[in-house]
Amino acid sequence: MKNPTTDLVTAYIGLGSNLENPVEQIKSARTAIAQIAGVQELAFSSLYHSSPMGPQDQPDYVNAVMCIATNLPPIDLLHCLQRIENEQGRVRKGERWGARTLDLDMLIYGDQIIELPDLIVPHTGLAERAFVLYPLYEIAPQLQVPGKGDIADLLAKCPMNELRRLD
Ligand code: ATP
Ligand code: CA
Ligand code: CA
Ligand code: CA
Repeated sequence: MKNPTTDLVTAYIGLGSNLENPVEQIKSARTAIAQIAGVQELAFSSLYHSSPMGPQDQPDYVNAVMCIATNLPPIDLLHCLQRIENEQGRVRKGERWGARTLDLDMLIYGDQIIELPDLIVPHTGLAERAFVLYPLYEIAPQLQVPGKGDIADLLAKCPMNELRRLD
């Protein structure tokens, strides 16, 4: 029998939205994530504004990173995040990196490196994306990213470009 208090893992989730009042979408998602049974919020970054990746004919994004403690296995956590995306009206179209009401990416799950067909952790692109690294660094400046190294070193190699922190 697993003891849930000793099986807690620290995980980081990247939140993004560029449709239907993105600031409210991010706030609702934060509440929904904290309400998952087996998840507790530990920290939440400032909100940031970023330019879209991929197709440029879409609004700018609002991004944030949340730190949680969880006893859910990674796949179960992914499914909970996908349910919240769906509940907040995410429509999956064919286009890669198209506009969406909510995107929840599992950035880090403890010290694990996961390479499943539907789940890669640490998240692909984490080390190259300013809108992930800057909010992550804000709440976890000492973090070691499994397989990728010190967050401060990753950040130093990633220009902030158009990323802006919202007050
Ligand atoms: P990107 O993953 O480059 O940020 P995206 O967020 O727009 O792009 P989605 O359409 O949201 O991509 O997700 C595509 C698939 O990515 C999902 O079906 C999911 O199974 C898979 N996936 C793999 N690793 C992860 C992860 N760490 N967190 C969330 N989804 C993941
Ligand atoms: Ca909870
Ligand atoms: Ca994403
Ligand atoms: Ca995603």
